[in-house]
This record gives sequence, C-alpha cells and structure tokens, in this order.
Amino acid sequence: MSGFNLLHLITKSQPVSLRSCSLPSGACRSKKTWPVSFPQEELRKRLTPKQFHVTQERGTESAFTGEFTYHKDEGTYHCVVCGAPLFSSDSKFDSGSGWPSFFDLLKEESVSLADDFSYGLHRVETTCSQCGAHLGHLFDDGPKPTGKRYCINSASLAFQAAGPDEGRASASSGAATSGKGDL
Ligand SMILES: [Zn+2]
Repeated sequence: MSGFNLLHLITKSQPVSLRSCSLPSGACRSKKTWPVSFPQEELRKRLTPKQFHVTQERGTESAFTGEFTYHKDEGTYHCVVCGAPLFSSDSKFDSGSGWPSFFDLLKEESVSLADDFSYGLHRVETTCSQCGAHLGHLFDDGPKPTGKRYCINSASLAFQAAGPDEGRASASSGAATSGKGDL
C-alpha cells in the first residue's frame, strides 16, 4: 500500500509540463533573476494594461500607435518599470517601422540581448538589464555609424525631458516649466 503511494508521488512530481505561462507565441521566458524586481501585483496597479503586457508578457504594441513613435523632444527614455535610463533622444531616428527606433544605447550595459525564436523567426530581444522588462528587438539595418536599429515599444518607455539639471540642455527652458503636470 505504502509502496504504491510512493510510486504515485514520484509520478506526480514528474515535470509533466514546464510551461509556466500560456503566451500564444509560445515564447516563455526561462526564469532569470534581475538586479531589480517588482511584485506583479504592484506592476499591475502602477502600469497601464498595455505597459504591463509589453514589459511583463513580452507583448508588442500595434505599429504607429505608441506615444513615442514620432516623439522628437530632447531628453532621455527610461525603462517604464524600473526607471533605468536606456536611450537618448540624440540616437532616436524615424525608421518608418511604426515603433520608436534608436541607433544606439545610452549605456552598453543598460540593455540585455537574447535570442528570440518566437513566431518562427529568429530575432534579438532587447530587455532592460535592471528589471528584465521586455523592450523590443534589435535589428542590424539601422543607420550609420552603428548600423543598429533598436525597435522599442513606446509602452516600455517613460520619457524624461531634458531639464536644467542636465547641464547643457538649458536652451529648451520653455519645456521645463510645463514638464511637471501638477494636479
Ligand atoms: Zn527596467
């Protein structure tokens, strides 16, 4: 009797299915630890549904719908989840793809790259190195000098306008006063 139970137990503990998520793309991220992590509950409250879907479920916003696609203000694009600075407006360009595109990173180590084989394609996924938020993908058809095109979802980004704190950006004083929307 007890032997049978033990056998039953072993059978049950077999990893029948390792899939811990049910994304239609089948692109489940393997568990990986990042320097910064947030409780999913907190993120669901703090982020919009689209921001949550893109950054936490590796979603993609529809082309030409993101708020930063044609955004041209001077400043810095941060990770919407953890606030890490990722891209500068200096490296933003109009790729015509419908997503914000950058040809360079603010700091090499701020974004992590990984192979992404979802949808039967091989692409390079870009992820925030701090919190693991999904950002978008990296392609090799960008402009000179880097030849890189970081194709990033607006929903993964938070924009911080260049302010007086950032030294040389004092020319755009008009934007600074209206930058903070106080309620
Ligand atoms: Zn982040």
